[in-house]
Amino acid sequence: MTERPYPHVLIAGAGLSGLALAQILRKEGVSFEIFERDVSESARSQGWAIALHGPLLAGLKESMPEDIGPIDQTNHLLPLDHLPAQFVFYDANKPGMRIGVNDDENGHIVRANRQRLRDWLRTFIPVQYGKRVARVDDSGEEIVVHFEDGSLASGDILIGAEGTRSVALLQVRKHILHGQDVLTPLPVGSLVGEIELTGADFARQLELGHSAYVVMGDAKDQCSMFAAINKVSPDGKTGHYYFLLHWVDEQATLSTESNPYWAVNASLLVERYRRPGIVLHAVELDASQLPPGRVMLMGDAAHSMTPFRGEAGVCALSDALSLGRTITAIRDKSAKKADLESLMVTYRDEMLKRAAKSISVSNPVIGAYARDPNYKLYTCGKEALPLPNEVINI
Ligand SMILES: Cc1cc2nc3c(=O)[nH]c(=O)nc-3n(C[C@H](O)[C@H](O)[C@H](O)COP(=O)(O)OP(=O)(O)OC[C@H]3O[C@@H](n4cnc5c(N)ncnc54)[C@H](O)[C@@H]3O)c2cc1C
Repeated sequence: MTERPYPHVLIAGAGLSGLALAQILRKEGVSFEIFERDVSESARSQGWAIALHGPLLAGLKESMPEDIGPIDQTNHLLPLDHLPAQFVFYDANKPGMRIGVNDDENGHIVRANRQRLRDWLRTFIPVQYGKRVARVDDSGEEIVVHFEDGSLASGDILIGAEGTRSVALLQVRKHILHGQDVLTPLPVGSLVGEIELTGADFARQLELGHSAYVVMGDAKDQCSMFAAINKVSPDGKTGHYYFLLHWVDEQATLSTESNPYWAVNASLLVERYRRPGIVLHAVELDASQLPPGRVMLMGDAAHSMTPFRGEAGVCALSDALSLGRTITAIRDKSAKKADLESLMVTYRDEMLKRAAKSISVSNPVIGAYARDPNYKLYTCGKEALPLPNEVINI
């Protein structure tokens, strides 16, 4: 019998962070398996666009295998990628205000269509689909993961990368937290819609912001509207848009998975655009809740926040970079028990600190902007500054 290489890593969840970690382990030649609850890569819509920026981009370039090609192939504006990624802020009560950020020499931004990003991250990764983690056992010798279909897998390290939304099924997190519920619905109501635009309507939206624009409300309303392009048709003539209306709303904290607040109230107002809404959750763990061992978390499973400022996905992928280095070091040093724990503690502490910083700037944006007339808007790691008007023809 051939001996299993050490460590053999099990990754639960083939989302952004799980796949990024799998790529890093593939590049480093670390043994791994990755499991996904969805029955196939196309079982579920992968959501809209996501902005990647800052040191993360350099980290991805360095850590991803070269054979998957450059990240630019995920650009949401293709084939109109002569337009740089751009986010613009407006204020419903300040007609002349137009401030924002561009992808430029002062900070690279890759706004990725999420489906393309997942496809890029999935290249050459043998994801095992239809494997919903149901239970985790740690015998002391190895970790055994039991799947809902009755099968199991064993390894030396288990990484929980199952995101926030599988609330009831976050067995990996439950294994660590002994059943504690760490998910808190945030006091933010949300409404979601999608629309396809062509001709002058499409051009006008691009003029308002190549990638996305946000309209901030006043102190009374405490709301914001986010309108963004997810992708462009191959002929460059149709823009696939989505929009999110967010407002400060204490009642949203009463949301449950079975009775989400948005569904019973606000979605009735805009019947035409009725879509499944979003209950925004916060997860913020402290070190005592995440013992540094052979089971570790990353991404939304470890920390969850609002989409404001585009921090969450960047955090999730930064975790993958950091954990990739940690696991490679565990392999190189053949680290076990206390040696493994001391490497994991470094990852955990850096990850929790980075996430806490992102949570602290992301969650309060709408209320803070409404209360503070001098509040500075940031996105993609940059301060929003005045931008000239644009004229765009399709
Ligand atoms: C509306 C919206 C807009 C957003 N916009 C941005 C943005 O612009 N910028 C940004 O940085 N972030 C954004 N985010 C956040 C970003 O999407 C997440 O932070 C990111 O996807 C987290 O990655 P992840 O790998 O932790 O989890 P996910 O990408 O959610 O992946 C988790 C995977 O685990 C699988 N899974 C779940 N349970 C199990 C189980 N029991 N067994 C096996 N597999 C399981 C799921 O099917 C899924 O494939 C946004 C989020 C929302 C909701």
